[in-house]
Amino acid sequence: MERIYFDHSATTPVDREVAKVMLEYMTEKFGNPSSIHSFGRETRKAVEEARNSVATLLGAAANEIFFTSGGTESDNLALKGIAFANRKKGNHIITTAIEHHAILHACEYLEKQGFTVTYLPVDENAMVSVEDVKNAITDKTILISVMFANNEVGTIQPIKEIGQLAKEKKIYFHTDAVQAVGNCHIDVNELNIDVLSLSGHKIYGPKGIGAIYIRKGVKIESTQHGGSQERKLRPGTENVPGIVGLGKAAELARIELDQRISHLTNLRDKLIKGIQEKIPDIKLNGHKEIRLPGNVNISFLYVEGESLLLNLDLKGIAASSGSACTSGSLDPSHVLLAMGLTHEVAHGSLRLSLGRGNTEADINYCLEVLPQILERLRSMSPLNANSKLAANNPCSQCDHH
Ligand SMILES: *Cc1c(COP(=O)(O)O)cnc(C)c1O
Repeated sequence: MERIYFDHSATTPVDREVAKVMLEYMTEKFGNPSSIHSFGRETRKAVEEARNSVATLLGAAANEIFFTSGGTESDNLALKGIAFANRKKGNHIITTAIEHHAILHACEYLEKQGFTVTYLPVDENAMVSVEDVKNAITDKTILISVMFANNEVGTIQPIKEIGQLAKEKKIYFHTDAVQAVGNCHIDVNELNIDVLSLSGHKIYGPKGIGAIYIRKGVKIESTQHGGSQERKLRPGTENVPGIVGLGKAAELARIELDQRISHLTNLRDKLIKGIQEKIPDIKLNGHKEIRLPGNVNISFLYVEGESLLLNLDLKGIAASSGSACTSGSLDPSHVLLAMGLTHEVAHGSLRLSLGRGNTEADINYCLEVLPQILERLRSMSPLNANSKLAANNPCSQCDHH
């Protein structure tokens, strides 16, 4: 059976050109970049070229880019590094309720360390209000961290305006741009961004590599101690194959950006429109227009996202759901709940995240299969329309309620 991958927000395949250059830096060109000899010089040069490539993608200077092990580490370094380095100035951090767990759990840790964190709410489209950010600022605020684009529902935040506000108030502004890089035009100067997180495996690069952009002059301290790599901010022998792969992935993202955006937007809109035409009782989650080009997130009433996933998988379609019934967590997605969805509606949500390899044929196949699956699931569902169960037991297909 042919398989269709609609889970690019979880991870992307490594581009062949990326894999090719990585292999070269695992086999022939294996030197330690800190070594003085020619083997070391050759990998040092490659690392600095990759740094340049990432910087160019963001409109930054090369010496403002530091390599890390991925988005999670970049987020942790941004929050803890800035918090600890600036605690004399203040102990207040502003973030949102819909951040990735790398941000939310780092914030919870910081709260245990004596920091105060404001988690801003979002509206029904998962949009943060600039006014809310403004009102949350106190004379103790040292950092604002708002994600660029949400990984579940795709909503893109008013980054430039929040950055402008932070700049005026002389507060550092960090954005988790893991989902936005390679999918949106990003210029850190134009958007007033001080610190930005990105990850290799979300942009057709390898897993276990990422980067953090830190504007020159930002006060930040290391959370890890060792050698002098990455100007002591992130010690440890460089992951040269990963870095070189990320550099190549960033170069491809820059060259292909406009093409990727138009291709994905076209497929996304076709998929959304098709689902809306063919399937009743659904709700599109996330902002209608201001969303990631490849993100489709829809709640299907009276069904479980998990059953949908399993049935799609049987038909060769890989997607993801906003309910976490099978991952050991009791609650559906914190993002969907923050948007005001009921547990019932949140549990029926499905995320289809498209990538550059997807085609119109993939969309057509999905539009053929999905209505059949829904019809069957809904006909069997105890949550169905007029059933009393629907009202009394919103989560009867799960074991938790
Ligand atoms: C995937 C993701 C991360 C984590 O990145 P890793 O490289 O997997 O650690 C952080 N934030 C967002 C928004 C993501 O989508």
